[in-house]
Amino acid sequence: MSEAADSNSGDATPGSKSPEPWFRDGLRFECTCCGNCCTGGEGAVWFDDDEGREMAAALEESYPEFLVRYTRVIDGHRSLNEHLTGYGYDCVFLDREMVPGKAVCKVYNARPSQCRTWPFWPELMKSEKAWARAKRNTPCPGMGNGQLFTIEEIVGRLEQSRASEEKPW
Ligand code: SF4
Ligand code: SF4
Repeated sequence: MSEAADSNSGDATPGSKSPEPWFRDGLRFECTCCGNCCTGGEGAVWFDDDEGREMAAALEESYPEFLVRYTRVIDGHRSLNEHLTGYGYDCVFLDREMVPGKAVCKVYNARPSQCRTWPFWPELMKSEKAWARAKRNTPCPGMGNGQLFTIEEIVGRLEQSRASEEKPW
């Protein structure tokens, strides 16, 4: 779950002093449960202790057991495990069997901030071009469709995403 930064943008940067970010009229997003953002190339799904404990509780497992069964350490930080499938490196909690034709998250209500804030990540929101590229490359059919998120709601998610990125994992 990562996207390269767009260095060729002339759009306003979220959080800058510009009063008119490119998403000032809001953006549409509604997940179709295709699973594309939970697979792909090798990556990481970071979480902190509180988020890990919530996922463990959702699975009715002890936290130590959860850490051993579903996670690994990358560069000193905890990530959820992945496994290689015909689609790519699926997150350990991506379930392609439970709902026919859908890929759903087994810990959806306890998923970590990295997942909750998608696709309103700072690197995707820095320009319309970066957003469009993420929509195309993931590909994410939910981006640009469905529920309208206001600029205030988007900024709230951006702040949540930034806060999780700043955690000393
Ligand atoms: S890629 Fe988009 S539509 Fe597909 S699961 Fe992820 S958020 Fe939902
Ligand atoms: S925890 Fe859930 S939402 Fe997050 S990457 Fe894994 S399957 Fe996707």
